Amino acid sequence: PGGSRIAFLPGPVLLLGAPGVGKGTQAKAIMAAWGIPQISTGDILREIRNRDLQPSVIADRLLNEGKLHEDDLSRMAAGKLVSDALVNDMVAARLEEPDTVRGYILDGFPRTLVQADWLDGYLASSRDGFPVVAVSLRVNERQLLLRITGRRSCPICKRIYNVHLKPPVADTVCDFDQTVLEQRADDTEAVFAERMRAYAEQTAPVLEHYRALGRFAEVDGDATVEAVTESILAAVEHLRE
Ligand code: AMP
Repeated sequence: PGGSRIAFLPGPVLLLGAPGVGKGTQAKAIMAAWGIPQISTGDILREIRNRDLQPSVIADRLLNEGKLHEDDLSRMAAGKLVSDALVNDMVAARLEEPDTVRGYILDGFPRTLVQADWLDGYLASSRDGFPVVAVSLRVNERQLLLRITGRRSCPICKRIYNVHLKPPVADTVCDFDQTVLEQRADDTEAVFAERMRAYAEQTAPVLEHYRALGRFAEVDGDATVEAVTESILAAVEHLRE
C-alpha cells in the first residue's frame, strides 16, 4: 500500500478483534497508507503506567491529572478491562487533537457496549458526524497464543516483533534503532486466558452492534501482514462507497 491511497478520506475506523490478532501491527500499516493516526487506548494506558520518558500529549495530560488509579493498574495486570469512564475520557481528549480531522484508527476501543454507545453519541454530536466503520480481524485461538507469548516490542520506535513468527535480525534488539526489545507484562499464557474471557463476554457484543448498523466487515487475520493490510484497506474503502 502506498501513497496512491492518500487522497481517500477514511474518517473514523475501528479495528476490533481478540488480543493478539494483530490490531497494533495493522493500525501502524494503515496509518502509513492513509496518513491518519493510530489511537490505541492500551498504548496510552501503558505510557501512563510506565511513566514513559517521552509521553504523548494525551498520556502526559492524564498522568498530570492523576487519572490512572491503583485499581486500574491491577485490572490491567490481571487482563481485565479498566473502567469505561477512564477510557471514554481518554478518547474524547485524544480526538480533540488536530491530527484526527481526516480520520483515525481506534485500536482496542470500544471494548464494551457502554463504550460503543458513548462513541456513537460523541460522534453524532460533534463535528461532521462522519459515522464510524468497524473492521474485525479473526485468527484462530492457537495462533493467538503464539502471537501473544512471542510478542516483543521496541520501547522507542514501537515496532512490533515476534520471536516465533517474525524475529528481529539480531535476537533481542530492534532492527531499526538497536534498542533492547520489551515484553508486555500481560503477554503470558495465564493472563491471556483472562483477556480472552473479557473479550468473549464484553467485546464480542460490540461486533454485533456494528454488524447490525451495517458498518462492519470481518477480515481473515491469518495471512501475511501485507495481505491483511490490503484486505482492511479494501474493506474500509468498500464500506465508505
Ligand atoms: P491492549 O493493549 O489493547 O491489549 O490493552 C491492554 C489492557 O489495557 C487491557 O487488557 C485492559 O486492561 C486495558 N484496556 C485497553 N483498552 C481498553 C478499553 N477500551 N476498555 C477497557 N480497558 C482497556
